[in-house]
Formats: sequence, structure tokens, C-alpha cells
Amino acid sequence: MQQFDVAIVGGGMVGASCALALAGTGRSVVLIEGVAPDAVNQPSFDERTTALGNASRRIFEGLGVWQHIQPAAAAIRTIHVSEAGRFGFARLKAAEQGIDAFGYVVANRVVGASLWRALAEAEGVSLRVPATPETVEIGRDRVSLTIVDAVGGRERFTASVVVAADGAHSSVRAAAGIDAAVEDYEQVALVCNVAADRANDGTAYERFTLCGPLAVLPVHDGSFTLVWTVAAAHAQRFLELPDAEFLQELQTRFGWRAGRFVRSGRRASYPLALTRAAVTVGTRAVLIGNAAQALHPVAGQGFNLGLRDAAMLAELLSAGADDAGAAELLSQYAQWRASDRNGVIRFTDGLIKLFGDARTSVGMLRNLGLLLFDLAPPAKSALARVSAGFGGPTPRLARGLALSGLRTRG
Ligand SMILES: Cc1cc2nc3c(=O)[nH]c(=O)nc-3n(C[C@H](O)[C@H](O)[C@H](O)COP(=O)(O)OP(=O)(O)OC[C@H]3O[C@@H](n4cnc5c(N)ncnc54)[C@H](O)[C@@H]3O)c2cc1C
Repeated sequence: MQQFDVAIVGGGMVGASCALALAGTGRSVVLIEGVAPDAVNQPSFDERTTALGNASRRIFEGLGVWQHIQPAAAAIRTIHVSEAGRFGFARLKAAEQGIDAFGYVVANRVVGASLWRALAEAEGVSLRVPATPETVEIGRDRVSLTIVDAVGGRERFTASVVVAADGAHSSVRAAAGIDAAVEDYEQVALVCNVAADRANDGTAYERFTLCGPLAVLPVHDGSFTLVWTVAAAHAQRFLELPDAEFLQELQTRFGWRAGRFVRSGRRASYPLALTRAAVTVGTRAVLIGNAAQALHPVAGQGFNLGLRDAAMLAELLSAGADDAGAAELLSQYAQWRASDRNGVIRFTDGLIKLFGDARTSVGMLRNLGLLLFDLAPPAKSALARVSAGFGGPTPRLARGLALSGLRTRG
């Protein structure tokens, strides 16, 4: 029976990144993904775009994929935060922070194609796609997996550790006996591409409206990508509106700061919840990305956080003991990721609760907050740093350092 050091289940945005980070580090890795990366129904590399922070850009540079992503990425040079019906707003400029851009907006399909093209040639990484685990048996000394491919073929192998990168409804998390708390926001994110009568100028808008936060982000072809949070009860109506009426609703809620909206693409919808695993490691099991925590997209942090999970796990596995599933290695991972994870969850959930509270006093506080924020450079710098992570050790890859050779150097 074949034996691997690491079995990663889920080759979406985070799992594929983790496998690539482990390439050439001396670890034998198998990546099991249920849906081909270029399939129309691929749930991770779908219609969405992702706002990548600068730490994520550096990680992708380290993985050798940024050069393929960058030509299709739009740089965010200004962030504009406002609230409908109130006069306060905040504007952050990257140049004032001494950086070129706060981040980059890129289509998930572009990220998927770049990661999987690199994985096809990655040293030490075996790919099983499309395939899903039929059984995951976690023992004291090893994990045994049986996987089934698209034509019903079965394969059995063992690994020293299993990595759950199979998303918010992770079956590996369940196999590891780890509970997850789910808080339904009773909101749905509507996602679509829209074009205005003028090209975007690299500004990312975040607008808090009565019906929920609305993000309008720049796309590299001059258009915008829209992430519009609406109450679950209203989602269907917004999905079914004719384009012209949809654009009118958008214009009314968003205003004219980006010009007149003239065209909208296909609309997709995502129900929103905060899913949070009770712990991020178990016996010979580690959770990364959405399997560990799936967040509201309001602040564009979910993937950025998950990528830091992947980078840190790959770093510890690259440098650690021979046994990739050693308890000390896994508990070090949990400890090093804890403050970043907790900080991002609190920040994102806090934003939703603060702006979702309609009471006047809270409204006034928010207004004052936005105004002060616009006037106070330290507050701005703090937000600008959010994309680097919320504390704990920064992964080597996010600092521009390589992982290969760490184990042989001891
Ligand atoms: C509308 C929206 C906008 C967002 N915008 C941003 C943003 O701008 N910035 C940001 O940082 N984050 C953003 N996010 C969050 C981001 O999309 C997620 O954090 C990210 O997709 C997590 O990646 P993942 O690989 O952990 O999980 P997923 O994307 O869920 O991928 C899981 C993968 O596992 C596979 N899989 C599942 N079960 C199995 C199985 N049993 N066997 C084999 N394979 C399996 C799936 O096919 C999939 O490929 C957004 C989220 C939403 C909903």
C-alpha cells in the first residue's frame, strides 16, 4: 500500500496552495480533489473574485504563481468606506501608507488555473482528481484513506497526517471528531460583474446599507465586481430582477461615486454563515481554510486567512520532525495560528454586528467612528495592516522566504 507523509483533502483555493507550498520540501504529498479545477461546477474556482492582501501576493510569489495571476489582477489603490444615509466616510490611499496597493482583485478561476498548472509539475505531489475519500480512518500511528474516483475505482493508502481543506462542510473535520459551531447570518451574498459608464480608478468601495454591506471592487478590465449582502428573504427577488431594474436598485443604494452602472453579468448567490471549528488540530489531523473557519465576506479576509494557514502548515511540515503527524508539530501549528485566526474572526463578525445594528446611538457611534477614522492616520494605518494578519508569527512565505531545504538544514 502506498504511503504518504501528507494527505490533503480538498484542492480548492487553500488546499491547492498548501500542496504547492509543500512541493520540493522533501515531504510526499497526495492531494485529493472532488471536482476538476476547470469544471464549470468547481465550487472554489467559480464566478467569484477574491481581494488578495499583500501578504497573499507575497505567498503567491513564493509559490511561483503570482507572475501568472498578476496580468489579470486589478490593484486596489484606494479604499472608500461609507454608510448609506450618513455623512461620515473614510478614504484610505495606498500611497499615503507608503505602499503601492492595499491588495489585488483577481478572478478565482485565474487563481485555480495558475495553482493547478503549477501542481501538475510539482515535485513530490501526487494528484487524485476527481476523487473523494470514501473512508478516513484516523489511528494513533497513521491515517488510512480509501478514495473513489469518477468511474468508481478505489484506491487505498496511508498518510502520517490528513489535512482538511475540504471547505465549510468538511467531512474530514467530522472524521477527525472535531465539532464546528455554525452561526447563520440569515444573509446571502449576491455576486456579479457590473460595468459603469467609466472605467474604475482602482478604488474598492465598501458601503454599509440598511439591507447589508455592499462591496464594489475594481476588475482589471475596467469593470467592477459586486459583492452585495442582502437578507436571505430578499435574495430571490434580487436574483430574478431584470438587469435594468437590478442596476437601478444598485445605483439607488450605492450612489454615483463609481459612475452610472450600465451593464450587469450573471448573478450568483452564496448563503452566509460563520462556521468555526472548535479546534484546528486533532490526532493526525489539521484543519485549514474554510474547514477551520468560514467567514462573512464583508472584509474580504477568508481566503487571505486560509492562505496564511496553508503557508504556516507547510512551513512547519517542511522544517519539522520526520513524523509529519507528530502531536508537537500539530499543536505548534494550532498555537501559532490562534491569534491571527481569532483576530480575523472577531474583526469580521464584529463589523457585521456593528453595522447590522439599526439603533440610533449605535448609528451615531458608527458615523463618528468613520469620521474619526478618516481624520486619524494611526487608525488608517492599523486597517491598512489588516491584510498582513492579526498577530502570531508571520509565515516565512508571507515574508518572501522560501521553504525548500528547511528540513535538510535541520
Ligand atoms: C461571495 C464571497 C466573496 C469572497 N471574497 C473574498 C475575498 O475577496 N477575499 C478573501 O480573502 N476571501 C473571500 N471569500 C472567502 C473565500 O472564498 C474562502 O475563504 C475560500 O474559498 C476558502 O477556500 P478553501 O479552499 O478553504 O475552501 P473551498 O473554497 O470551499 O474549497 C474546498 C474544496 O474542497 C473540495 N472538496 C469538498 N469536499 C471534498 C471531498 N469530500 N473530497 C474531495 N474534495 C472535496 C471542493 O470541491 C473544493 O474544491 C469570499 C467568499 C464568498 C462567499
